[in-house]
Amino acid sequence: MVLIFAEHSDNHFKKAVFEAATYGYDLAKAMGTQCVAVSVGNVAEEELKKLGEYGVSKVYTISDPQLNAFANTAYAAAVSAVAKSIDAKAVIMAQSYNGRAIAPRVAVKLDAAAYSGAVALPDVSHNFASSRFAFSGKGVEAFETTKTSIVVTVKTNGYHVAENPMDCAIEAFNFSAEASTLDAVAKELVKASAGISLTEADIVVSAGRGMKGPENWGMIEELAGLLGAATACSKPTADIGWRPHHEHVGQTGIQISPNVYFAIGISGAIQHLAGVSSSKTIIVINKDGEAPFFKIADYGVVGDLFDVVPKLIAAVKRQKGL
Ligand SMILES: Cc1cc2nc3c(=O)[nH]c(=O)nc-3n(C[C@H](O)[C@H](O)[C@H](O)COP(=O)(O)OP(=O)(O)OC[C@H]3O[C@@H](n4cnc5c(N)ncnc54)[C@H](O)[C@@H]3O)c2cc1C
Repeated sequence: MVLIFAEHSDNHFKKAVFEAATYGYDLAKAMGTQCVAVSVGNVAEEELKKLGEYGVSKVYTISDPQLNAFANTAYAAAVSAVAKSIDAKAVIMAQSYNGRAIAPRVAVKLDAAAYSGAVALPDVSHNFASSRFAFSGKGVEAFETTKTSIVVTVKTNGYHVAENPMDCAIEAFNFSAEASTLDAVAKELVKASAGISLTEADIVVSAGRGMKGPENWGMIEELAGLLGAATACSKPTADIGWRPHHEHVGQTGIQISPNVYFAIGISGAIQHLAGVSSSKTIIVINKDGEAPFFKIADYGVVGDLFDVVPKLIAAVKRQKGL
């Protein structure tokens, strides 16, 4: 059996969970078994059933009110309890903060091998051998496990979402968290912005020191709004207060891998690339044709961003009939 940890956010599943479910379904197919999920907390039945669209044949629900807020140790115990009861050979979850927090704990409890950042299925006939990006996307690491079961986090936007409709059953799973496992409980979640989450965005419009000043960011926000994208920035622009720190991407900031990354007025220093180079398509706008970012760009425009970006906005508006 393959078990998905279906993490929710405000009682809704995000795309990363459907990505994990698709991964789990494909893995279960390769292993000749079924893909099921566990959901902890108060998620409505209609939302739980959505997992069935992505290949999940049953969702186990845990409704212990002590687990309404995320708690590392207790959630790891809950997911492990379900995994043990169904003899899961693989536990799959999104590579979110919570997924990363519980995956190693679940692996220890199940005596399973654990790895993060999956972008492809493991070889089920050969010790779950697999590979993943290394050196900030500049290399590929191949590895094998020595265990008979695995716990995997799937890189955001690293796999794909595919519909594999299933008649999805819902079954309550009896689990009560032990007090000793409620050692670190999330108390309050304050969102830094109401916009699209940077780590989950399909498209990211990012800008750097080439913008000259914070007063010019209106066009970046307008372009992002039109494309349904999140905004990001280089480190120095956050350091000097042009942009909020939660937008800073790179080695010392957030690491992202959207489907499309626009780098506008950003030179492409190695520390910046460390956070964005695994993006699927990179589009660079820079007036310096020698800027290092062009070396990893899929598309590039050598030009003044104050000329190019308004034209791009006008083109997107035309395309959308606005
Ligand atoms: C330990 C360490 C960690 C770091 N971590 C990070 C990190 O996580 N993230 C990060 O981003 N940086 C990080 N840095 C900083 C990094 O080395 C670079 O200094 C930084 O990325 C440069 O930011 P930038 O590209 O916005 O600015 P610049 O390097 O100043 O580049 C500005 C670019 O804009 C272009 N430009 C200027 N005007 C225009 C125009 N009108 N039209 C079009 N293009 C224009 C220029 O040609 C240039 O390429 C780190 C550095 C260190 C030492």
